[in-house]
Amino acid sequence: MNRELRVAVVGAGPSGLYAVDALAGQSEVPVSVDVLDRIPVPFGLVRYGVAPDHLSLRGVRDTLEKVFAHAGVRFLGGVEVGGSVTLEDLRSCYDAVVLTYGASSDRHLDIPGDDLGGSIAATDLVNWYCGHPDAPREQVEAALAGVRDVVVVGVGNVAVDVTRVLAKTAVELEHTDMPQHVLDVLAKSSVSDVHVLGRRGPVQASWTTKELRELGELVDADVVVAAAEVDVPPPADRHAAKNLEVLQGFAARTPTGRGRRVHLHFCARPVALTGGDRVESVVVERTELADDGSASGTGVTWDLPAQLVVRSVGYRGLGLAGLPFDGARHVVPSEEGRVLDDGVPLPGVYVAGWIKRGPTGIIGTNKKDAAQTVASLLDDARAGSLPEPSHPGAEAIDELLADRGVKVVPFAGWRAVDAAERALGATRGRDRTTIHDRAALFEAAEER
Ligand code: NAP
Repeated sequence: MNRELRVAVVGAGPSGLYAVDALAGQSEVPVSVDVLDRIPVPFGLVRYGVAPDHLSLRGVRDTLEKVFAHAGVRFLGGVEVGGSVTLEDLRSCYDAVVLTYGASSDRHLDIPGDDLGGSIAATDLVNWYCGHPDAPREQVEAALAGVRDVVVVGVGNVAVDVTRVLAKTAVELEHTDMPQHVLDVLAKSSVSDVHVLGRRGPVQASWTTKELRELGELVDADVVVAAAEVDVPPPADRHAAKNLEVLQGFAARTPTGRGRRVHLHFCARPVALTGGDRVESVVVERTELADDGSASGTGVTWDLPAQLVVRSVGYRGLGLAGLPFDGARHVVPSEEGRVLDDGVPLPGVYVAGWIKRGPTGIIGTNKKDAAQTVASLLDDARAGSLPEPSHPGAEAIDELLADRGVKVVPFAGWRAVDAAERALGATRGRDRTTIHDRAALFEAAEER
């Protein structure tokens, strides 16, 4: 190929931006990269998933942002692949397409009452408190109104994030970049007890030790664990052993009469949500563990009062027209980042991040994952196996988007949003207040 390679990266979250870094950071194959995201601002889960009170983790965006300093890297915000443009459109304009659009949907409990009012997905709650433009604000705020008892189902890091945010005081949350309406709702919260349910034992929980430990550091919430539930032999796995140690430390504490309580339960799975229009309680069943760590019900049940149930049982990837999809694993089938169609590579189409491997790992996991995908792409470029696009010119995508009336937000638009959010935060003595409304984001982006 006697011109530079043109690559589209779909999704400006961590895996997408790590892929851009790997592409733009090498000099062997000259490359230009367009990063498309349906949201008018970059950073994906770093902006809309990492908990707002995890300031240092959110600071990763300063590192990720540096990829846009590379010559030949552009941000095309507000462009929805599968909406205003199709995968086929991208394949006609670029030599290669790297899909890193993540896993935006949620999993269900599939138990009676799962769809009652007051039963919501953690993804909706997280989107709301992070200020995602698509968050179902009315539904979440209605679900939170007047709640005293919350049940969070699942013992992963998202469950810990949600629990911590619900149990924190307004003062603890003030220094975050949450939208102002979110802070105002949480400041008036009547939550007193948050019960977290793990269907397996304390050593099978998937949270990380640092995150678990933070539940014991809340200013106005006691963490409550029944000693009998964490009285199990120390596991061989170092990470699980550390978690057990922290949990046993919690169990040894005497509650100090703080305003709120976080209760951690193990071998306890929800079997039904009950109530009228709205959830009133959760029927919980005691489970027992088999040698392989799987849980089965014992038939022993009890009721936990709950006016809010948050299911935090994992994210779920979605398919895209024109792209093979593994409906059982909710990922795009691939080998070393090359998308497979019936086991055969789909030329010029790649995946990285959660849509490639499922919703697992921490932010840094995506760096290695994206590097593997980019290595495959560059190998294919060197081998001459990338298909020739029908519209290879650099202007082809711009013309296509203009023809379809798509308003594209460039990187300078994000810079303008960034300045507007900092200015908004300063009016309340905060570093930043997230702008959550889509139209307001486009408007702020115009102020450049
Ligand atoms: P996760 O770690 O997979 O946790 C899901 C939890 O839901 C597990 O405890 C699982 O239990 C439970 N579960 C699944 N189906 C269930 C059911 N039907 N009934 C009851 N419980 C059920 O997922 P996640 O918490 O959504 O996190 C996703 C990824 O993001 C993880 O890799 C996580 O570490 C990462 N993350 C990291 C941070 C951080 O680093 N601070 C913050 C947030 C998220 P079983 O184990 O029994 O299946």
